[in-house]
Amino acid sequence: MAKKTACDLLIRNAHILTCDKKNTAYTDGAIAIRGRDIVAVGPDKAIAAKYEAARSIDARGGLVHPGFIDMHYHLTFHMVGKMIAEADFGGEDPGPWVADQYTRLINAVEDEEEYASSLLLGLDMLKSGVTSVMDPGSAFEPENLARASDALGFRVSVADPWLLDEKGPQISDIRRATVGRKAAIKGLGKQLWRNKDKDSRVRAHISVYGMGNDSDELRLAAKACADRAKVPFNMHQSQSVDDAEFDDRRFGRHPLVHFEDIGLLGKNCVFVHMNVLRPDELDPVVDSGLSIVWSPTNSWYYGARQTVKTPFPSLHKRGVNICIGLDVSKAASFGDQIYTAYLLARDQNEYISPTDLLRMYTINGAKALMMDKTLGSLEAGKRADIVIRNNDTPEAWPRHNAVRHQLLLAKSRTVDTVLVDGEVLVKGGRLTRMDEGAVYETADQAARVMRKRAGLRG
Ligand SMILES: [Zn+2]
Repeated sequence: MAKKTACDLLIRNAHILTCDKKNTAYTDGAIAIRGRDIVAVGPDKAIAAKYEAARSIDARGGLVHPGFIDMHYHLTFHMVGKMIAEADFGGEDPGPWVADQYTRLINAVEDEEEYASSLLLGLDMLKSGVTSVMDPGSAFEPENLARASDALGFRVSVADPWLLDEKGPQISDIRRATVGRKAAIKGLGKQLWRNKDKDSRVRAHISVYGMGNDSDELRLAAKACADRAKVPFNMHQSQSVDDAEFDDRRFGRHPLVHFEDIGLLGKNCVFVHMNVLRPDELDPVVDSGLSIVWSPTNSWYYGARQTVKTPFPSLHKRGVNICIGLDVSKAASFGDQIYTAYLLARDQNEYISPTDLLRMYTINGAKALMMDKTLGSLEAGKRADIVIRNNDTPEAWPRHNAVRHQLLLAKSRTVDTVLVDGEVLVKGGRLTRMDEGAVYETADQAARVMRKRAGLRG
């Protein structure tokens, strides 16, 4: 008998969704891991015959898929979003009252609160199977996000803080935002040093705020900077009729048409929201090969579907790289994203399969991050960022349609083990690197400080 090849870890008896090009699945599969890399994926028998390892994880028939990649989350606002009080204004718009709380709480964030917020977010992410996250440049000090990543082990892509040089319809008075063209353009690319270390879990891209808050000059300078560094260029765009029409007025045409004309669009563009796209804006999106971050729970929360038909099912059919981002956890969490996207499509008599939605939340995110050579699918040569689910919940049974049951019904409840770079960060549903109670205590302390600074009672 041939000698077996040594590896560090075997995941066996797994229902594997690889999310590779052919969407290969193994109902009884195994993965061999050496160091931080996947060395083989295939049928359990074949892998077990070829590889031996000191450690193995028995997935007991549970679903195994790549770690989710959340392409839009404001780590700094994680606790802010959750601390906004809600009230019934008897039919009156609570918007201004909510916006006031937002501004006050954001302005109450200093280094320790930003770290605490990122730490709580990291815990939430990992326990939901999210292994990577992109921050849209709304961190005041990206190093606070890097510290949380170092503490818990998740991947994060950060950007230069708060680059904006005009005032859009929705932005509030953020004390520490860099407003002004010269300062904003000068601030571009200051975080890119992080990409020198290819193995670092903290990386950098280029973001401007978007949604009416920046000039053509700043946007083009940012895109050029991203092109030179071969990183994504990210911004918010056309979230609601409000900001889309604001752009219509200042450009004298629809924004995506304008962006195509000034040469802004390209494959490394990652535009977030894009709920409001008019017919003449669809071709520029498709032709440029840009990526869209669909934030299903955000679009639902803000009622986007009441004013426009959700464009994502048809853009998906036309081959646009659509990925998923939670934005801020207010009334929903990471486990709700695939479920909500599925229902939003259904609600408009469209259909996107749970498997396609899983691709949006994994490999499509990796493509938008320009890291699909290393992340986003379970294939030999890629990093071992892996989610192992259990079947210990009634929603998982019977095991027919396991993919739909797990992703839509069980959501994040069945996330059992999570690996990043082959390192087990969540085991049996519990964090391995840090005591979860310590994370909650840090968050609670920070919340008290923020409420006090913001002048909010209690
Ligand atoms: Zn956002």
